[in-house]
Amino acid sequence: MVEVDLNHIYKKYEGNDHYSVSDFDLHVKNREFIVFVGPSGCGKSTTLRMIAGLEDITKGTLEINHKVMNDVAPKDRHIAMVFQNYALYPHMTVYDNMAFGLKLRHYKKDQIDKRVNHAADILGLQDYLDKKPAELSGGQRQRVALGRAIVRDAPIFLMDEPLSNLDAKLRVSMRAEIAKLHQNLGTTTIYVTHDQTEAMTLADRVVVMSVGKVEQIGTPLEVYNHP
Ligand code: ADP
Ligand code: ADP
Repeated sequence: MVEVDLNHIYKKYEGNDHYSVSDFDLHVKNREFIVFVGPSGCGKSTTLRMIAGLEDITKGTLEINHKVMNDVAPKDRHIAMVFQNYALYPHMTVYDNMAFGLKLRHYKKDQIDKRVNHAADILGLQDYLDKKPAELSGGQRQRVALGRAIVRDAPIFLMDEPLSNLDAKLRVSMRAEIAKLHQNLGTTTIYVTHDQTEAMTLADRVVVMSVGKVEQIGTPLEVYNHP
C-alpha cells in the first residue's frame, strides 16, 4: 500500500529568477497510474526528479505514506525509475546490466539471481540473458531498462519518457506492455510524456501541465472530452 502526496510543491533552480514548477498539488492513490503530460520545458521531469529525490524541493512537501520525504535520500524512497536515455552498459551482458544495481547494494548472489530471473520471465528476456546490448533490438533494450527497475522490487515506479526513443510501432506495443506490467506488479506509477495518446491510453488520471503549472487533473475522459 503506497500513497504519494505532493503538497503545494515549488521548484526554483539556482541562478533562475522564475519557478520551474509552481504550486504542484496532487494526491496519488495506491496502485494508481498517473501521467504528467505537457510540452517540453513545462516542468514534468523536474517534478518527477523531486519525487525521486534527484532535485531538491524549493517549497512544499513530498509525502510517501504520509511521511515527509523532502530530506530522505533517494535510495530510501522505495522508488525505481526508468529514464528515456537509460544507457545500458555495453560491455555487460543483459544479466549483469539488470544485476548491477543490486550488486552495488550488496544483495546476496542467490537473491540477485532470483530477482533477475523473475524480471527476465516477466519481460520475455530469458533467452537473452547472456547477450550484450548491441545484440538486442530496440524493444529488447528498453525491456532491459525496465528490468533494471523491476529487480529493485520497489512499490513506486517513476518513468520519464521511457518510450520516446522507440519507433512508432514499437511504442504502441511497449505501451501495452507497460500497462500490463503496472497491473501485474501492483505498483504506484508516475509516468511523464509529451504524447497525449500515451497519456490517454495509460493513465488512471492525467495531470496536464503548461509552463510550470498544473492546468488540469482528471481521468482521460474528463481531460480530453471536456467542452
Ligand atoms: P519537461 O520535463 O516538461 O520538459 P523540465 O522539468 O525538464 O521540463 O524543465 C522545466 C524548466 O526548468 C525548463 O524551463 C528548464 O529549462 C528548467 N530547468 C530544468 N533543469 C534545469 C537546471 N538544472 N537548471 C536550471 N533550469 C533548469
Ligand atoms: P543508490 O543511491 O541507491 O545507489 P542508484 O545508484 O541505483 O541509487 O540510482 C541513482 C538514483 O537514480 C537513485 O537515487 C534513484 O532515485 C534513481 N533510480 C531509481 N531507480 C533506478 C534505476 N532503475 N536505474 C537508475 N536509477 C534509478
